[in-house]
Amino acid sequence: MGSAYLFSGPPGCGKEGLAIAFSCGLNCSNESNPLCGECHSCKQFRSLQHEHVTFLVPLPGSNSGKPGEQGGKIKDQKNLELFQAALEEKSKNLFHKITLPRAKQILIGSVRCLRKTLYLKTQTHGKILEEPPKNTTIILVTDYKEQLSPTLLSRCQHIDFPPIDQSTMRSYIVDIGIESELIPILTEISQGDMHKAYSLFGKSKEEILGMMGEIVSLVFSEKASSWRHFINEYSRLAYTNPAEFRFRVYLLQLWIWSIYKEKSGVRKNSFYLGKENGMESIVQKLLNTDIHILNAHLEEILRGLNRNLNTSLALTNLLIKIHQEIQSDKAYA
Ligand SMILES: [Zn+2]
Repeated sequence: MGSAYLFSGPPGCGKEGLAIAFSCGLNCSNESNPLCGECHSCKQFRSLQHEHVTFLVPLPGSNSGKPGEQGGKIKDQKNLELFQAALEEKSKNLFHKITLPRAKQILIGSVRCLRKTLYLKTQTHGKILEEPPKNTTIILVTDYKEQLSPTLLSRCQHIDFPPIDQSTMRSYIVDIGIESELIPILTEISQGDMHKAYSLFGKSKEEILGMMGEIVSLVFSEKASSWRHFINEYSRLAYTNPAEFRFRVYLLQLWIWSIYKEKSGVRKNSFYLGKENGMESIVQKLLNTDIHILNAHLEEILRGLNRNLNTSLALTNLLIKIHQEIQSDKAYA
């Protein structure tokens, strides 16, 4: 048994859930059948309140930056509640992602430690991997393995997980009782990412296509009022709900790719490309546009979100670049 593992793979492929199942197996007292589900340890795992398990998640930094000072305490209470709620949700659904709003630093996120407001900075994590405490297994889980230092990678046993394949995704969605009408659109849009599938639960097919249609028509409109609306609405969304912002941009990316697939004959009659609401004229406009360049501009926006760029300015630039691209291709067509 190694002392440190790294589970990596695309978002929503089940890494965290597997890390939890793995630690449940390590703690199970039934040697012939680990993960028995019956022993004291396995039962504690069900609520994710096991005494031997500590979750480390990114948390927002406190006001003072120093643990235990007054500025940080109220926030800690709030974070503690948010964290407990997230943990409870995770215990019911292993695909639930534990995230706290505006979390930047990796501080220790176990309920016990939060109570003591004991904080552990990233450098200390490195130290722990270097000299692991006895009888401890550390499992690091990340979507971004390429951002980790080679030293850290060298200290872990690395397991890379693929996205969930379409048929597994389909059977999972069927099992939890999603309406059959929604299954094709959920599997198509989520592309093996269970978090995306979850963010779509409870929405009707019309709502999902409506969200997609809205961002498409705002971005490709030539009206100044649509641009203003897009810049105001989406810069606000990027601030208040970055995950939702990413998801809307992702819908736009999917829509743009479906034109590429249609154009290259990979796929005919994509259900996104409805003929209603003037969509057809946008599709016609984009048929002569380099889809890869449009997509690169959208990726840049998403990267900028991590770096806290001025979003309204970035979105204005995006619209200008996209429309320049469409115009320039028209000239050659
Ligand atoms: Zn057990």
